[in-house]
Amino acid sequence: MDVRNKTIFFAHALIDGQLVDDVEIHVDSDGRIQNIATNRVKPATFAIDLRRHVALPGFVNTHSHAFHRFLRGRSEIGKSAADTFWKWRDNMYGLVADVDKEKIYEYCHTTFTEMLNSGITSVGEFHYVHHSAERFDLDSAVIQAAIDSGIRLVLLETLYERAGFDSPPIHPIQERFISTLPEFLSNFEKLRKSTKHPRVTIGVAAHSARAVPFETIEKLLDYAQTIQVPFHIHLEEQPKEIADCQKEFGGSGPSDMILSKMRVDQTFTAVHATYTPSANMQKFAKLGANVSICPCTEGYLGDGIPKINDKLDISFGTDCNNRIGFLEEMRWACFSQQMLNNSRSVSGLSPNKLLRFATQGGARSLGLTNTIGSLKIGEFFDAVIFSLDSPVLKFTNSSEEIIDSIVLSCGNREISHVFVSGRDRKT
Ligand SMILES: [Zn+2]
Repeated sequence: MDVRNKTIFFAHALIDGQLVDDVEIHVDSDGRIQNIATNRVKPATFAIDLRRHVALPGFVNTHSHAFHRFLRGRSEIGKSAADTFWKWRDNMYGLVADVDKEKIYEYCHTTFTEMLNSGITSVGEFHYVHHSAERFDLDSAVIQAAIDSGIRLVLLETLYERAGFDSPPIHPIQERFISTLPEFLSNFEKLRKSTKHPRVTIGVAAHSARAVPFETIEKLLDYAQTIQVPFHIHLEEQPKEIADCQKEFGGSGPSDMILSKMRVDQTFTAVHATYTPSANMQKFAKLGANVSICPCTEGYLGDGIPKINDKLDISFGTDCNNRIGFLEEMRWACFSQQMLNNSRSVSGLSPNKLLRFATQGGARSLGLTNTIGSLKIGEFFDAVIFSLDSPVLKFTNSSEEIIDSIVLSCGNREISHVFVSGRDRKT
């Protein structure tokens, strides 16, 4: 279904954070929203019949490694205590060993298609496996897979300089990730100039404080701020990263170092921040930094639960993509905090707030505010559509019940259409 140059009537749509009734949305030839009218009289006939449907802004996934999806079925959950995050990482390195352009394209295309079917219309792909036959030859395969699948992509080109804080010998697999900052930036500039597709933009990432020294992290962050692209970094996902850093830097952890030495602003996204101290989470909130949490992956890997606060700009990521269900990410972000605090009201988390994180929060983290994230005139019509006639949503009456039921009761099955720039990409 293609709704460009068409007007669609929805039973309800989420406008300015509120579910409103009887909404007509007109989409222009570029796939942007040209007009929105609310409380309309139902037309006598429908060119496109979505009169029993609810439109929400498409979900924005701020942290993915698409190829990790191909580790499914190898969780080793429940086996010996040694089967930790680090053991999982060894399995992942096994997958990378023979990756080439064709394989990375196939991995990404499959995963991006699955994301679209779960309502994710934009993805920030944290891409660090760059090299196979030639230097950085895998980057263009990721971009092509996104273009062909129909998803909107922010390619987060990721710098990986070393194997750990005390620069241990490089693992042979890590050779596929590694580059120096000058080589990385030269490739980044070329990629940025040559990428002209309307659904693709490029940002930067430092893999982590263990893989990139702080002086380079600072240079890369400065660079991102100068050219106004998003900057992401894996931060404090595991206690070992903090302990190794503290050993090297007189008791300071990665978030202490970044907050004390760098100019953190809304360009910056900390991914995970699982063990980041509360005081530093408050500082991130005050500086307008983003935090991308990946609850299903953090549960799957046994990482932990971040110390969020009610001022924090949060978004969600599917990270290892073992299960792609964005409504599950939202629920587990809420449930894990509720269990941790023995409360049903933590940091103002409500179905509406979770939806805001999943849409506008994601757009903010990926540098796409006013481009996507809301159903608003001028933004692209990226939307996820639910049918009120699905068994799960039957008998919901008020707007509040519909939002509550979508976020807390629905799954991928209840999603009927997924529009990106006005074209339905659900398969
Ligand atoms: Zn990650």
